Amino acid sequence: MRILITGVAGFLGSHLSDRLLADGHEIVGLDNFITGNPQNIAHLMGNERFSFYRHDVSHYIFVPGKVDAVLHFASPASPNPQSPAGYFNLPIQTMKAGALGTHNCLGVAKANEARFLLASTSEIYGDPLVHPQTEDYSGNVDPVGPRAVYDEAKRFAESITMAYYRYHRVDTRIVRIFNTYGPRMDLEDGRALPNLLKQALLGQPLTVYGDGSQTRSFCYVDDLIDGIVKLLYSDEHLPVNIGSQHEISLLQFAEAINRITGNKSGIVFVENARSARDPQQRQPDITRARNILKWEPRASLDEGIKKTVPYFKEKLGVE
Ligand code: NAD
Ligand code: UDP
Repeated sequence: MRILITGVAGFLGSHLSDRLLADGHEIVGLDNFITGNPQNIAHLMGNERFSFYRHDVSHYIFVPGKVDAVLHFASPASPNPQSPAGYFNLPIQTMKAGALGTHNCLGVAKANEARFLLASTSEIYGDPLVHPQTEDYSGNVDPVGPRAVYDEAKRFAESITMAYYRYHRVDTRIVRIFNTYGPRMDLEDGRALPNLLKQALLGQPLTVYGDGSQTRSFCYVDDLIDGIVKLLYSDEHLPVNIGSQHEISLLQFAEAINRITGNKSGIVFVENARSARDPQQRQPDITRARNILKWEPRASLDEGIKKTVPYFKEKLGVE
């Protein structure tokens, strides 16, 4: 297939490109580098099955030649208000990438009679009242809350995707991605793994927000990409959760990072703008992915963190 990937210079977009190139496909990548990094795709330049266009997906998208699939991954993704790459500081761009960007990408898919896959998120469940989250849970999102620019843009993106599927018969897929980590994450984007692993490798105390009792389920990137590719190759049109079911508190997560890296500087608890409205628990129900895609994550948290450490050490310039 000739596959258009938006957000190709981001953490997930670049891994997805690597995997789909390895599967024999051709990739046309789009990115405006608002949160991504050209270094993430530098190794693909010169590959005759990879081409790249610098473009903002919230504007009309023109791709020369026919495409067989459109994978829409372009969006700021970090909820950290302290990070310039976080969606709190890019609110309008985030809403436009989710709303106008999704509409434009669906237009490309429709015009090409191509498959379409939307990168949605566990955030569409908000601060969930159902646990673990099944795909038929409709969520608990405040439309004017601090995370709304991201959550509501993704909810709109899902709705317009289903509208194109039901009305225009576009061959769509929706993946609801839960917290994922691995090499090529932006060390400065303020998400939990980059913040905590960077602090650990620099020998600093780890900043746990609130009392650390909030939970997340962290998935290693290779497992996530495998699930997304299985969904792309499937015939499933309803949303599918992809993520780890190994749910741990943020305090346990920080302790694991200190143990694995041998950091002796401990943990500090921090009250900030996030701790007040942080989703308190998050774990996907992955029954649908298990049954339909025959997928489940393989890497343990220890394995995943150990595989991520060399990239962080290289970026930080530490041994
Ligand atoms: P990222 O910030 O590393 O990558 C996003 C990429 O999209 C960046 O390269 C950025 O420059 C690009 N981009 C943003 N707006 C754009 C625009 N208007 N036009 C063109 N390019 C634009 O983030 P990521 O973690 O790789 O996330 C990728 C996708 O996966 C996002 O849609 C995100 O919502 C979704 N997601 C990620 C996670 C996760 O844990 N990483 C969880 C849930 C959902
Ligand atoms: N977090 C933390 N310390 C940090 C960064 C994040 O304790 O230095 C917490 C954050 O409050 C949240 C969890 O880690 O409870 C996951 O945050 P992340 O930014 O990775 O994404 P979220 O799951 O909130 O979308």
